[in-house]
Amino acid sequence: MTKPIDAVPTTYAGTRFRSRLEADWAITLNGLGIAWDYEPELITLPSGTQYVPDFWLPEIGTWLEVKGPHTPRREKATELGNARACGCTGVCSCRWRGGQLVLLGWPSHRSPNQIGYRGRWGHAWWASAYGASAYLTECPSCARAQWVTLRRPWRCRSCRASLGATPRFYSPAEQLIRFGEGASLTSARVDEDIRRLAEEERLADAGDDEPGDW
Ligand SMILES: [Zn+2]
Ligand SMILES: [Zn+2]
Repeated sequence: MTKPIDAVPTTYAGTRFRSRLEADWAITLNGLGIAWDYEPELITLPSGTQYVPDFWLPEIGTWLEVKGPHTPRREKATELGNARACGCTGVCSCRWRGGQLVLLGWPSHRSPNQIGYRGRWGHAWWASAYGASAYLTECPSCARAQWVTLRRPWRCRSCRASLGATPRFYSPAEQLIRFGEGASLTSARVDEDIRRLAEEERLADAGDDEPGDW
């Protein structure tokens, strides 16, 4: 079988990754200021299956399993997400609020889902492996970027401070989190401003074209 290009081992930041896609995720995490450990642990799942998740994000209690076209199966990540999810009744007393989160990280949003495609210069594309959807946000207290679900109360997974009354929750569909470029959340905010201005300009231009006076 021909080895897909995606699975070419890649060294970045002193770590040898199994694939370029994993290295691109590491670059993305670094840009967001999210600490990571690569393949830190062999986990025995409740089913007895052994599993080595790709990334543990130790400051935000989150696992990230990178899923390329050559590694489409997600059963282990889903089982881990189920096993580590919060089971608290009432107030959550888990070490990580809501339990540990397990994410699937895919090739960038704009990349066609083809073997060998290098998903750069697109936007980060992720999903929860189990449970509610995960959104990227930033804690106003400790400034840590992190993924959270919309389960209330909205608190930082790291320092447990309130995320505020109106946190900015980024979804992958918005395509504001650049992938594999080491971009920070600041660049997402700038991109969002540029997008808004362009839209206002477009609406203003459309207004100019309207016939008649108003
Ligand atoms: Zn809990
Ligand atoms: Zn915080």
